[in-house]
Amino acid sequence: MSNVEKYKEFRTRLKNLTYACNVLAFDEATVCPKLDKENSMDVYNYFAIEADRIATSDEYYNLVKELNNNPSGLEDIEIEMIKKELKELTKQRKIPSDLRELGYEIISKTSLSWEKGKETGDYSEFDKNINEEVEYYKKYIKCLEDKYKGYDVLLDEMEDDFTESMYDEFFNKLEKEIYPLLKKILSMPKKYNENIKNVKFDIDKQRKLTKRICEMMGYDDTNGYIGETLHPFTNGFNSNDVRTTTSYSEELLFSNIYSVMHEVGHAIYELQVDKRFDGTVFQGGASCAIHESQSRFFENYLGRSKAFIHYFYPILLEYFPNELKDYTEDDIYYYVNDVYAQLTRTEADELTYPFHVLIRYNIEKKLFSGKLNTDGISDEFDCQMEKYLGIKPKNKKEGCYQDIHWASGFGYFPTYALGSAMSAQFYYSMKKDIDIDACMEKGDFKTIREWLGSHVHKYGASKKNLEIVKLATNEEFNPDYYIKYLKEKFTLIYGVEE
Ligand SMILES: [Zn+2]
Repeated sequence: MSNVEKYKEFRTRLKNLTYACNVLAFDEATVCPKLDKENSMDVYNYFAIEADRIATSDEYYNLVKELNNNPSGLEDIEIEMIKKELKELTKQRKIPSDLRELGYEIISKTSLSWEKGKETGDYSEFDKNINEEVEYYKKYIKCLEDKYKGYDVLLDEMEDDFTESMYDEFFNKLEKEIYPLLKKILSMPKKYNENIKNVKFDIDKQRKLTKRICEMMGYDDTNGYIGETLHPFTNGFNSNDVRTTTSYSEELLFSNIYSVMHEVGHAIYELQVDKRFDGTVFQGGASCAIHESQSRFFENYLGRSKAFIHYFYPILLEYFPNELKDYTEDDIYYYVNDVYAQLTRTEADELTYPFHVLIRYNIEKKLFSGKLNTDGISDEFDCQMEKYLGIKPKNKKEGCYQDIHWASGFGYFPTYALGSAMSAQFYYSMKKDIDIDACMEKGDFKTIREWLGSHVHKYGASKKNLEIVKLATNEEFNPDYYIKYLKEKFTLIYGVEE
């Protein structure tokens, strides 16, 4: 068998194992009965560790190395893939296999204890696990320290070449430019009929509306699936199958709507990746921030725009004619763009959002610089929440442990704010080619999808984060677009000067 044939055989095994892991992870989060979750996670780990062992084996690593040195018989795109794979494997192999395997174990038990805590409010088990997890990541960092040290190792892992000093600069800019406007707006009167907060929306009807929104966006049961979970997420299997979840509550219609638009934004990204990349290292998104830039683009830049609400208002009335009869189109627009201090990041308006992210980023920095132990997370979170938004959580459930992310790792949060900033740059660039408002006024997502497909999505993970920003917008990444967007939108809504 030639090296190329051997390589293809390995790739098929890895692709199949990864697919099995995706099915198991999605199943565990959506339909697996509570009593069997632990077992389900064990089975997931079995397949994930098997894939890890194959990928990092000497045999496979040497094969990839040989093909990188002598790529005859490979197509140009495959040569690029090999190059990327070699880089990733070289890095992965720096972590001893027993430590990598311990990581799977710690993450699954920490995730399960987070789910338990979310249900019961008792986080004592999670407290213990998160401490073990931070210790694990400290060892993990040590194995990979080279160009980057400490927390930067984790940041770079989530977002290529983004470091603490770059994020510091980014967040400092937001604090200087956006925070004063936020403070001003927080003290202003509401612009909508606040009784809407007390209206209840039947969950079955919400499910039907969800389906309608998905179809409107170009996501249906031929290429996706919407499950239900505590913490919505998207899981990309390949460019024909990307599954998402949402959660329903009678009180939170708009939370579901925007969560769906967000997750479907993630899904559309992966569905539009070049099909040749399926099952390869180029499958899926380029980076966490680029991924978030796409989900938040659909959720906010489109979904919370005046033009879209104009199109969407009559649809809302079709589903909830009695519930919404006292509320105008303006009520809905101002309600879904209401800037207010509340505790939940995923419910945050666009202006407070980056500060929710900043709080978590500040805590992560302290955890990995040794300035904070895990038992101090809760107090630190409460203190920062009070500093930035002037409110204090009653408990860990609505405070520091509201998000699932710390159950599986660190360094992810700042990419949320970075992604939102990248969305703005894509938005202004797209505006040069397309009348986005005119599209949204008629619910035309196709034109938008096509632009994103050809400017951002098609590259999958074949290009790096900042390369894609440059290719799509003809400019280097520039957070000033984010500041411009937030200022333009919210000074207009609230009729304030900056
Ligand atoms: Zn997201």
